[in-house]
Amino acid sequence: MKEEKNMGLLERKKYERSVRRRKSRIRIATTCGLILLVTVFVCVFWKPWKRYSWGTSVTNQTDESNKKKSKEEIRKEMMAEAEGLVLCYAYDEAIETLKSIDGYQKQKEIKAKIAEIEAKKAACVPVKLEDIVHICYQPLVVDEEKAFGTGANGKEVSNNQKMTTIDEFKAITEEMYQRGYVMVSIHDLYEVTEDKEGNEVWKEGKIFLPEGKKAFVLTIDDLNYYHASEDYGLNEKLVVDQDGMVVSEYVDAEGETQVGAYECIPIIDQFVAEHPDASYKGAKGLISLTGYNGVFGYRTDVTYDTSNPDCDSEQKAWMAEHPNFDLDKECEEAKKVADALKANGWEFASHTWGHARVADRGIDSLKTDIRKWKENVEPIVGETDVITFAYGQDIATKAGAYAASNEKFEFFKEEGFKIFSNIVTEHTEVFIGDGYLRFGRINLDGLAIYKATKKTENELSDLFDAKEIYDADRPKMKEM
Ligand SMILES: [Zn+2]
Repeated sequence: MKEEKNMGLLERKKYERSVRRRKSRIRIATTCGLILLVTVFVCVFWKPWKRYSWGTSVTNQTDESNKKKSKEEIRKEMMAEAEGLVLCYAYDEAIETLKSIDGYQKQKEIKAKIAEIEAKKAACVPVKLEDIVHICYQPLVVDEEKAFGTGANGKEVSNNQKMTTIDEFKAITEEMYQRGYVMVSIHDLYEVTEDKEGNEVWKEGKIFLPEGKKAFVLTIDDLNYYHASEDYGLNEKLVVDQDGMVVSEYVDAEGETQVGAYECIPIIDQFVAEHPDASYKGAKGLISLTGYNGVFGYRTDVTYDTSNPDCDSEQKAWMAEHPNFDLDKECEEAKKVADALKANGWEFASHTWGHARVADRGIDSLKTDIRKWKENVEPIVGETDVITFAYGQDIATKAGAYAASNEKFEFFKEEGFKIFSNIVTEHTEVFIGDGYLRFGRINLDGLAIYKATKKTENELSDLFDAKEIYDADRPKMKEM
């Protein structure tokens, strides 16, 4: 870290780029490296809510473990690895894998495979930036009776509007896949190069997909499990299972703890395991987190301390119910979840520490907020250059370039944020500026899906037919 700090700007940019490239290759190798083998395992051994870990890419295995294998075994494994990479459109990486097999030039089978992959790659077309869709969800409703019934302590009407059910989420995921939508990373949308003077130049990224495929970014907001939503029929927390996969814990109506795929994360992880072509190079979604009640259901904020003047009544009540609470232990557990998510292709965004109304709040208040996020959330999920805004607010009143005089933008940029996302109701708005990306997201909540059921042509009809998706068990929707 010391070395990093002493680097010049140019060196640092180069270093960051090489780290990004390395990270991206590791991401691809770990999430889709052994997809083919995993698919076979899934078919043979699949049990509800259980999945097998991706394992380690053959090329990443230690020399020691490779020594025990025959040349032929290694060749077969690398061929399978390349097949897995092809399934998630990582053509160059697949060819690279095949070319790293000893004496590949003399092997007909491998040369034919390389030619086949080259042909597949050549048949792909570039995805247009303006055609990429950005959708987002809140944590899913597990118990509809609790969320939309009288048990929600008077919040049943707004829960019905703001929340999405597990069935709806699964149906949308399946339908979008059937329509050719492929999940991409928000970082795939742009490319950073340098001009002659060594200045950064931001331009549209190069995503190549087979003809007919479309790209989308998935964001999950507020995966914190707030005290305020304890009665809403949501999960309690995320946990890591014995296979290194993240699943959710839910306490059912009988008080029994259920562990399984009751949240967006494990549902998507399973979906991509079964349909590797649903994800571009192993990308998953973006998880956008606040910090004031901790993350993933762990109470990781420094304000969980009754002697802290900022410890509020909800936190005090929770702490009274959990006398054995240990802040360090909570942080440790939350970090395990964050690390497992990262290993499986998920990325993180700041949703501000306090779910801030960024348009209403002054610059000093935002500075305090971001400092808290960096002190409490960043140590768990790591640095991020993405910030997502809450309450439909934004730091500018117009789409497109931020004004040079926009002090909130300047502040966020100084803090390392380069990707900004507000909520939009129409088609996704996207803009690449000088050193930043703006990419609005469409909230697929109950009200949005309900409204789309009312008209045949609507802003969601490219993604799915809302009438097919809308959960028939929901109570009558109150339109705002
Ligand atoms: Zn939010």
